[in-house]
Amino acid sequence: MWTPHSSLPPLYKPHFSPLSFPAPPHFLSLALSLSTYTYTYTNTHRTYVTHATMPEAPKQTQNNHSSNNNHYSDVALADNKKTKLDFIEEVTRNAGEVQKRVLAEILSRNAGAEYLKRHNLRGGQTDGDTFKKTIPVVAYEDVLPYINRIAAGDSSPILCSDPISEFLTSSGTSGGERKMMPTIEEELSRRSLLYSLLMPVMSQFVHGLDKGKGMYFLFVKSETKTPGGLLARPVLTSYYKSSHFKERPYDPYTNYTSPNETILCPDSYQSMYSQMLCGLCEHAQVLRVGAVFASGFIRAIRFLEKHWTLLCQDIRTGSVNQLITDPSVRDAVARILKKPDPELADFVATECGKGSWQGIITRLWPNTKYVDVIVTGTMSQYIPILDYYSNGLPLVCTMYASSECYFGVNLNPLCKPSEVSYTIIPNMAYFEFLPVQKADEKEEEKELVDLVDVKIGHEYELVVTTYAGLYRYRVGDILRVAGFKNKAPQFNFVCRKNVVLSIDTDKTDEVELQNAVKNATNHLVPFGACLAEYTSYADTITTIPGHYVLYWELILGSNKNNNNNIKIVPPSVIEDCCLTVEESLDTVYRQNRVFEAIGPLEIKIVETGTFDKLMDYAISLGASINQYKTPRCVTFAPIVELLNSKVVSSFFSPKCPKWTTPGLKQWSNIN
Ligand code: AMP
Repeated sequence: MWTPHSSLPPLYKPHFSPLSFPAPPHFLSLALSLSTYTYTYTNTHRTYVTHATMPEAPKQTQNNHSSNNNHYSDVALADNKKTKLDFIEEVTRNAGEVQKRVLAEILSRNAGAEYLKRHNLRGGQTDGDTFKKTIPVVAYEDVLPYINRIAAGDSSPILCSDPISEFLTSSGTSGGERKMMPTIEEELSRRSLLYSLLMPVMSQFVHGLDKGKGMYFLFVKSETKTPGGLLARPVLTSYYKSSHFKERPYDPYTNYTSPNETILCPDSYQSMYSQMLCGLCEHAQVLRVGAVFASGFIRAIRFLEKHWTLLCQDIRTGSVNQLITDPSVRDAVARILKKPDPELADFVATECGKGSWQGIITRLWPNTKYVDVIVTGTMSQYIPILDYYSNGLPLVCTMYASSECYFGVNLNPLCKPSEVSYTIIPNMAYFEFLPVQKADEKEEEKELVDLVDVKIGHEYELVVTTYAGLYRYRVGDILRVAGFKNKAPQFNFVCRKNVVLSIDTDKTDEVELQNAVKNATNHLVPFGACLAEYTSYADTITTIPGHYVLYWELILGSNKNNNNNIKIVPPSVIEDCCLTVEESLDTVYRQNRVFEAIGPLEIKIVETGTFDKLMDYAISLGASINQYKTPRCVTFAPIVELLNSKVVSSFFSPKCPKWTTPGLKQWSNIN
């Protein structure tokens, strides 16, 4: 399919989308620019257009000639699948060439950008060697001054020649605030392209997915404007609000139980309630369920646990609860909840009313074939609970992406979560890989390697150069090469650099945790107490939503007049400590707390000597006494058990930390 333009069969003619680009000279350009084209294929029987498809991002083949609106022929489906699989084959087989052309395209298009000029990259210098010699590898803080200028309203070509269309607010933070990634209009098409590959890949392994619906819990989040008037919002909010999502043509693979209105509802309660109600009404048609991350899906199940009686009442009466006030949501739900269905209400009530929720997914949605959620990285902590709710249905991780750019897809989606690897799609951006430093290596010894030069088994930090103006930007993810699809590497997601605690989209690193704990311990000073040792644990087992647990070993003060008389720290003071830790954590943590994606932080006071026991245990497992450091986060079950067995008292944060609309703090500094 992705063959030189000249050799395209006569019945295949490229048709340019509104984002008009010159006709690509050969297949590599075709591959590069696929996202910015719409292809119309015609043959004697039908005409259809390829767009994107995906759980979160549906747009795909449109069967224009079909007389029945919701009919999509098997032939059209098979053709679309073949097109997408051929595309993957082509770009992975030519990964090196595609990467060279992506870099050349980014650099030639952005030759006028101030950033490149400042680093003395002259227009016309588009080769990898010059680029690498001239342009430094950077972190967010290095680009922040440029981003702040764009946010303040400077519309000159600072990072990129195309106008910055909006900022995507990442869950990664800098100085406690969300990072803001510049993006351009065209990137939406590139994201759509990646989404469009997912179902063709999936349908190789699970058949009949076009014969029913997907129940996906998808949400938009709050957005704000920069002082210069650009929108700043999460990447998925931007996508769901775009025409790529809202105006997707009918497609059996992007046929969801949630009407657009319910996904786009800004009120998270109404959005969740209405999506769950529609999912229950159409329960027999549901073939797959999911959310973006595992934590989001578990939240939905938790919501059902709390609200099933109300939901059943609506199903029984055929009317939407008055708590749903958004008229467009009410109308959309009413189109699905057409009439009273006491039989379904009884069925749902019986299943939800049973003591155990084991297998609730397969009980309520009996035709479900898999659960589509990301369970790699920190989300792996949710695998046991998902197995419990789904009775061991396959957990499918389809893609790897970020606000900076979208990276890759899982070509073997039914593999075990521990074996998931993502194949980087080489036309998304220009990718480089910083080898993860070994203990005896100096920083300057590390040379970045190209996509096709990474080595199996080695670990790397991902560095991207994007069409939207990030150059040699360290994403902060550590990846391990698991294998290759043709020339394109496949990576296991190892971890987010430095992150120690995460429940939802929050990513707390050791330094943030340390500072937060330090702030909190000020409350102990008036009582002469101090913190001897601490560690932490992301508890996603005992509470839903999960919460941060800090294990504190205290040295208590004594009364001045009587050294034997220990000064007790009142419970309210430890509760204040909990809240201060929360107030000191970054905006993503606090927002998640306010929106109940994370439960109240807990401090567990442990017996004196507990951390010595922890060290003894580590040494018994082979740690060196000289080099032993208390881990600031624990995950290993026996260690968590040991700590829990030493707890003398525990305290929770009494209220939510403060959180306001993102961006205010950083923009107040823009002059
Ligand atoms: P954000 O910038 O908020 O969109 O977050 C992007 C980050 O989420 C990535 O850099 C990864 O750290 C993480 N992430 C995205 N997709 C995956 C995945 N499939 N597995 C593990 N982590 C992921």
